[in-house]
Amino acid sequence: MDENCIFCKIIAGKIPTLKVYEDKDVMAFLDIAPANKGHTLIVPKKHSKDMLEDNNKDLAAVMKAASAEGFNFIANTGPVAGQVVFHTHFHIIPRFENDGLKHWPKKDYSEDEMIAVKNKIIESI
Ligand code: 5GP
Ligand code: ZN
Repeated sequence: MDENCIFCKIIAGKIPTLKVYEDKDVMAFLDIAPANKGHTLIVPKKHSKDMLEDNNKDLAAVMKAASAEGFNFIANTGPVAGQVVFHTHFHIIPRFENDGLKHWPKKDYSEDEMIAVKNKIIESI
């Protein structure tokens, strides 16, 4: 439990939320600012800052709890990716026909740059 973490407070029942699922490792509740009807956050109960800091056991429990059809499953990881709450969580955004949500835009870059990026990724793994 991190005293300064809003999701830890939700998990501890100190802040009310619209809970949809809970087991011994995981809790899922509706996002307070939904991108679509049913936008849900699924979080491991044990505090970690993001999915890179999490341990595999907690992540596996989250993945198992998240199975569904027709949704976007997103983890904003790090401030540069738009993460604002630093307790590991995944967004499940249900999708419906003609719901008006747009995919992220395509980024054009040259083939040379693409090859350089590919090599950089290979070096870092
Ligand atoms: P991220 O860190 O991935 O950018 O997003 C954090 C998400 O948590 C946001 O979509 C935001 O609406 C949601 N959120 C922040 N505070 C609360 C809260 O107190 N209750 C609930 N249910 N959701 C929250
Ligand atoms: Zn936390």
